[in-house]
Amino acid sequence: MHTIEQIYIDGAFVTPHGQERFELFNPATEEVIGTVRLGDAEDARRAIAAAKRAFATFSTSTVEERIALLQRMHDAVRAREDDLFEAIREEYGAPVSRGRWMTGYASSVFVEAIETLRAFDFERRMGAAAVVMQPVGVTGLITPWNSNAGFICGKLATAIAAGCTAVIKPSEMSALQTRIVTEALHEAGAPAGVYNIVTGRGDVVGAEIVDSPDVAKISFTGSTAVGKGIVRAAADTLKRVTLELGGKSPSVILDDADLAKAMPLVIGAGFMNSGQACIAGTRILVPRSRLAEFEAMAKSAVEAVVSGDPADPATEVGPMVSAKQWNRVQGYIRKGIEEGARLIAGGEGRPHGHARGWLVRPTLFTDVRNDMTIAREEIFGPVLSIIAYDDEEEAIAIANDTSYGLQAYVHSTDEARAVRVAARIDAGRVLVNTLTHEPKAPFGGFKQSGLGRESGRFGLEAYLEPKAVLGLHQ
Ligand code: NAD
Repeated sequence: MHTIEQIYIDGAFVTPHGQERFELFNPATEEVIGTVRLGDAEDARRAIAAAKRAFATFSTSTVEERIALLQRMHDAVRAREDDLFEAIREEYGAPVSRGRWMTGYASSVFVEAIETLRAFDFERRMGAAAVVMQPVGVTGLITPWNSNAGFICGKLATAIAAGCTAVIKPSEMSALQTRIVTEALHEAGAPAGVYNIVTGRGDVVGAEIVDSPDVAKISFTGSTAVGKGIVRAAADTLKRVTLELGGKSPSVILDDADLAKAMPLVIGAGFMNSGQACIAGTRILVPRSRLAEFEAMAKSAVEAVVSGDPADPATEVGPMVSAKQWNRVQGYIRKGIEEGARLIAGGEGRPHGHARGWLVRPTLFTDVRNDMTIAREEIFGPVLSIIAYDDEEEAIAIANDTSYGLQAYVHSTDEARAVRVAARIDAGRVLVNTLTHEPKAPFGGFKQSGLGRESGRFGLEAYLEPKAVLGLHQ
């Protein structure tokens, strides 16, 4: 049993003022694996005060000093990769390959921040003005459970690159990962107060950070509903807000696509992170002329996906993070059937041979209309929908007929054509015949998938305020 009793404020592990304990579960066994003591609003205020004190000095640090700190943070998180991998599997249920990707990502973001920082011009000449990019101040970094360690590290690396200080509010459901990351970062030896980590409830610790007049910027990754509430609450203090929210990403199969090549990418995009990914390609848009062929291939591909124990290296889709999430996904599968979609793989219940664990059968619907609930709402589980279209114009219209706009996938043997289609899809990122990730490129959403961008140069600029100085003679 894990017992986590401390939070991290002003460079030290401290006992929270908050008394409440939150149970941690293993989603593969449904067993309680520990408890975490939660911080409360008083803890959030202490953390904000520490970050404010630290900002006075840290904001004047040199780029070289910040690069050295980021390098130490990278090395320290890297050294704990195996522990982090175990924690992610135990409390989150990530299959082996996903868990390895997540742990690698958590340390790689520090290297990316260093590279961005090296190439960044903090002082620019614009006409008669000298423009200086200044750190925005104390930042509030709020992360979700579906990649808690990666988002803690990614947001913090950017804040530090900018010369900002931070109060981090990780997901309360991912406290094992948070503890390991916090221990590693502590080893890296940042000045006290530069970052503070307060695990707690979103509507208590998160809300206190969002409301505080001493916090200049919020970087939030999570659900669209909570993101909208953050924008409303942040209006009172006119905080800078970056939001990374939900998605309902289209995978557009053009009529010239090589289906044998496209299929593993379509399935990989759909079931990414056991379906619990904001960028999952959950709406598969297929030309009617190739529908029967696509359905047959996709049915076999989905039926071949191994859903099971995350400890088994053969497992591709692991459990849902919680009983609540499992029930939610089951509800969407029922809703799909009720609204007239045709199930061609998977369905309700657990995969064969699994009596325990919040496992969902990898599920594929066809005959889905884009106005059905399963095509409109983010399911956050391994449930995919095939939507037929007649021509390219209709494919683009369906791809854009959503309140989201985070990511899209286009499959075609004609790259120039795929790029033309990509240009017309309202999404922050479009992947053409690939599933790769480019950390130097901006990441974020159109429409209700978010506000602003993270990663690379765009991400760093979001932690800075430009200041124009005029009247200089040289
Ligand atoms: P969530 O919105 O429930 O919670 C996210 C974080 O916000 C948690 O730390 C939570 O405690 C906190 N929070 C909750 N209420 C708050 C409040 N009133 N004020 C401040 N903080 C509050 O999301 P989740 O269920 O943890 O994560 C899944 C969601 O995250 C999905 O919708 C997914 O699409 C989205 N997501 C988006 C991206 C992206 O980059 N666009 C990446 C991963 C996940």
